[in-house]
This record gives sequence, C-alpha cells and structure tokens, in this order.
Amino acid sequence: MGPIIAIDGTAGSGKSTLAKSLGKILGLHVLDTGAMYRAAALKVLSVMGEERPETLTKVPDDESWSLQVAEIVKESVIVIEDRVSLDGQDVTKEIRTDRVDRFVSFVASIPAVREDLVSRQRQWIAIHNGGVVEGRDIGTVVCPNADLKVYLTASIEARAERRAAERATGERAELESMIDRRDALDMNRSTGALPSLELVASAESNGRDDIIVIDSTEYNASDVLSRVLTRLETIGIHPPSRQMRYSTDEI
Ligand code: C5P
Repeated sequence: MGPIIAIDGTAGSGKSTLAKSLGKILGLHVLDTGAMYRAAALKVLSVMGEERPETLTKVPDDESWSLQVAEIVKESVIVIEDRVSLDGQDVTKEIRTDRVDRFVSFVASIPAVREDLVSRQRQWIAIHNGGVVEGRDIGTVVCPNADLKVYLTASIEARAERRAAERATGERAELESMIDRRDALDMNRSTGALPSLELVASAESNGRDDIIVIDSTEYNASDVLSRVLTRLETIGIHPPSRQMRYSTDEI
C-alpha cells in the first residue's frame, strides 16, 4: 500500500484545497468523501422530494425514516473523480447548493449510511493504493493507520468568508449559522463524529508526529501546504522526485 494522508476538519477549513495540492505534489489520488455524502444526500432529496427533507431540524425519531434513507443511499452509484456522478448523471454542481448543505449532515448522521460509505471509501483506498482522503472521520474511522492525519480548522468568520467567495453568493450571517449548525451536527453524532480540536491537539502535543493540527485562520493555503509538506518530510514521505522543484503558486 502506498502512503495514505487523512485530512479531517470543520466545514470550509480548506481541506479540499490542501488535498488537491498534496495529491499533485505527491502524485497521489485524492478522494473527497464529503462529495460522497453530498451525492448521497442529493439522491435522498430527489427520491423523498415531496416530503421536503431539507426543512428538517433534526433526524426524525421514527427509525423507519433512517432505514428508508439508508436503503436509498445503498442503491445509489456514486463516482468521485474530477467530476462527481450520481447514477450516471454529472452532479458536480448540484451537490454544492444550500439545499444539500442544509440536509447532508442529517444523512451523514445515520449509522447505516456511514457503514455503507465508509466501506466504499476503504475500497477506493485499496484500489488506488492509498491516496489523500479528506472528510470528518478519515483519521479516526476510515484509516486510523494513515501515515499522516491532518486536522484543519479556522475561525467561523474566515470559513464563511471563504465559502462566500467560492459560491459568489450568500448573506454572511446566514452562511455562518449554516456552517455552525453543520459543525455541531458533525461533532455530536453517535458514529464517525469529527473529533474536537482540543482532543486532536492534545494527541499531537503528546509527541505524535503522525498528527498535525493547523488553525488556518491566519494562514493562506500555501502556508498550510508548506507546513504539511515539512511534516511529511519528517516522517519520510517525499514528492516522487526530490530534485523536482515545486512552486505552491502553481497549484
Ligand atoms: O466536506 P464537506 O463539507 O463537503 O462535507 C459535507 C458533509 O458531509 C459534512 O458536513 C458531513 O456532514 C458529511 N461528511 C461526513 N463524513 C465525512 C465527510 C463528510 O459525515 N467523512
């Protein structure tokens, strides 16, 4: 198995930018597991559309609801490459709408859905001989043996600003409250929860060089990348040709 780099962190903390840059520099495949959960949520929205599941404020207590959602997800064919496809349709754009943002963490909180998608993610890693994998539970559940586990976060204001720039839309206060709500759901579910910053930071400060915690509020993407590359060098993971010079500006 080649190297595995896990990147977990809060919504909008820069995981995808870092994952793509590392993939290019190290010549590794990249898996955005958030895109998988988003495609799964989109499928549920399209099947259950009339019930307007995106207006939920919590997962219904009724267990049959969760079973039905898990069943719908199980039937979905999700392919994550440069584009994201769901049942053969390109849904790259549709998975990044406010409607999906509002609903995805409910789908992701269902243990049977997680079991299904975690198993697909592990298969992807085996087929691609490792890779850079980003999400919320990669270093804790999907690949606890990853060579490096990166934990990224940033202030809510910085993350809402980045999200607004990406989407070129959105009232700042509304974006902040949506991100905040998603973080709370992602950190407080029963399985595959995003660990708290304090927990990961304390593991790192116990001298674990396979864990790096970065608060990117004050750093730009290329600073974050340099810190991760430096740590990778320390643990013996180098770009394919050490002579190859890379510029973070080109990424
Ligand atoms: O990474 P992104 O923000 O696109 O992820 C969308 C949502 O998918 C997250 O808010 C979370 O609810 C879910 N997710 C997850 N586990 C992962 C990746 C994403 O629960 N490994």
